[in-house]
Amino acid sequence: MVLANPSGATAVPNAGNDQPGSSPAPTANPAWTAADGAALYGVDRWGEPYFAVNERGHVIVQPRGDRGGSLDLVELVGELQGRNLGLPLLIRFDDILEDRLERLHAAFERAIAQYGYRGRYQGVFPVKCNQQRHVVEQLVESGRRWHFGLEAGSKAELLIALSLLDDPEALLICNGYKDRRYIETAILARRLGRQPVVVIEQADEVERIIAASQDLGAAPFIGVRAKLASRSTGRWGSSVGDKAKFGLSIPDLLATVEALNSANLLADLRLLHFHVGSQINDIAVLKDALQEAGQIYVELCKLGAPMGYLDVGGGLGVDYDGSRTASGASTNYSLQNYANDVVATVRECCESHGVAVPTLVSESGRAIASHFSVLVFNVLGTAAVPGAGQQAATGEALIVRNLRETLTLIEAIGAGAEADLSRLQEAWNDAIKFRDDALAAFRLGYMGLPERATAEQLTRACIEAIVARLPRNGSVPEDLKALGSALADTYYANLSVFRSAPDTWAIEQLFPLMPIHRLAERPTQLGHFADLTCDSDGKLARFIDAGQVKPLLELHEFRPGEPYLIGMFLAGAYQEVMGNLHNLFGSTNAVHIRLAPGGGYLVDHVVRGDTNAEVLEAMEHDPSQLLERLRIASEAAIQRGGLRISEARRLMDHLETSLRQTTYLQE
Ligand SMILES: *Cc1c(COP(=O)(O)O)cnc(C)c1O
Repeated sequence: MVLANPSGATAVPNAGNDQPGSSPAPTANPAWTAADGAALYGVDRWGEPYFAVNERGHVIVQPRGDRGGSLDLVELVGELQGRNLGLPLLIRFDDILEDRLERLHAAFERAIAQYGYRGRYQGVFPVKCNQQRHVVEQLVESGRRWHFGLEAGSKAELLIALSLLDDPEALLICNGYKDRRYIETAILARRLGRQPVVVIEQADEVERIIAASQDLGAAPFIGVRAKLASRSTGRWGSSVGDKAKFGLSIPDLLATVEALNSANLLADLRLLHFHVGSQINDIAVLKDALQEAGQIYVELCKLGAPMGYLDVGGGLGVDYDGSRTASGASTNYSLQNYANDVVATVRECCESHGVAVPTLVSESGRAIASHFSVLVFNVLGTAAVPGAGQQAATGEALIVRNLRETLTLIEAIGAGAEADLSRLQEAWNDAIKFRDDALAAFRLGYMGLPERATAEQLTRACIEAIVARLPRNGSVPEDLKALGSALADTYYANLSVFRSAPDTWAIEQLFPLMPIHRLAERPTQLGHFADLTCDSDGKLARFIDAGQVKPLLELHEFRPGEPYLIGMFLAGAYQEVMGNLHNLFGSTNAVHIRLAPGGGYLVDHVVRGDTNAEVLEAMEHDPSQLLERLRIASEAAIQRGGLRISEARRLMDHLETSLRQTTYLQE
């Protein structure tokens, strides 16, 4: 859609164009600068301190936040493409990962100092958030100075954590369902010199722990997960409350303590865990949970457990839309607010009961891993029904003539006045009637394809003309307002939503999306993205809008032959592992970038995306067998004279090359 209408769902600063019927003329508006581009997409709200826009209108990345060093994302992408790393490309900035860890620890250190908390903070990273080897390795390495640990929720994750976490002082929190082998592995790992804490989540797990401990003559460190009554709100609210999938109810908790006591294992009960769900939007929810958990902690101490650790779980949120509100894509608190609340509430609980404060543990996944990866994809083309510019043909059908006259009528209406609005409404009612008549005539065989095409173009031209005449402020009838989105352009994106942004589809998660260049140029279109899959759900059509959601994004006119690059930001948590092989689109190329000490950057790791051969194998197909069958079929076609030898060779070349390449479209 051409952005002539400032009153649509999406308002573009300075994009107003009062000249009815003309397309926006940039010269008529105040000059558009890169700062306008940054403001439009809210970069300084959600991107701070890692992402910004430079004077050239390119997104820049400051991987160490405000501590210096920046990279032009567009240049970086160009240079990576030069290394034969095609789009879509996932760029992981390991410095950002490290910076997030530092900020988390700094926030807790500040809170601990401020509240005179006589204990410390020792966090863990929940591996389920991003299990990629280089990511976990990087976190273990960067976190060493704080003895930062890992949290595992399955046997495979336990294996990762046991093997990569070589710091004997770091915690290894073992959550999830646990069978006997899982428990015995944790017990033996303690003997290995690690610090696994087996968190009892289900009432029946205590029996297995007791049996395994008696068998092995050694116990694990034990934790209990409490099912809190405090309710969370939002998407993951069902993680707490009576119906929650995990955790021990208060009666179960008491029974567990008793069972541990009679098995002489109470001395190993060290940790209380709770988790109110991911992405806590409202800090009030956390405060309630902390108070309740604090009291439970105190009671457990009074029951004779040595305790020492309170694990407040995950849930530390990310402000995806930068609005600082309790809306779904945001948080009404900062990292520092979060740390302050945890520290102050726990201190208050413990001190008022004369219980020593625990070491505070958090399992913050989203808050650590979201910022460091950026997905860049290219636009392959756009689809928009062309509107104006059709010459009347002689002998045109009456219906088409009617539509043409309606358009002329609309074009004669002024903009803004109340009376004009009602005339626009009337004209639109006519246009719909004629459009429907045209469709009916086509269905019944009275109208050919060329005339139907003209009718569609005229309808589109009517919409454009109406939209251009709607007043900027004031009330506009609903069906006229909705016309704006009817004009949206579809931008075809070289990616699979199901692979790279599954949460946008599964749970309507919002991520900031924006062009990474041309930001010093006024965007003139409104559009949404359609992905490569043959699935109507394969689209990105919900965009951040300062606490709201908008269906269309301001975009630039696509120029064929010129790259148009879009970035999806803050998607480093959960997306990769949740992504699937829908339509057999595989993983994208990924790189790890680090700022070099003397300026510039280093490409630390390159993780090639899945090839077509690999995704076929994942479905049990044998690529060489598939090729062989086609070779035999083409030999037969050569024999029949249907295919020339040179054509058969070209066909086989294409197939073989495709098998070696990634599943996405080549430029
Ligand atoms: C998923 C999960 C986390 C991570 O939550 P975030 O919101 O990503 O920080 C932590 N703990 C448990 C038990 C979880 O299930």
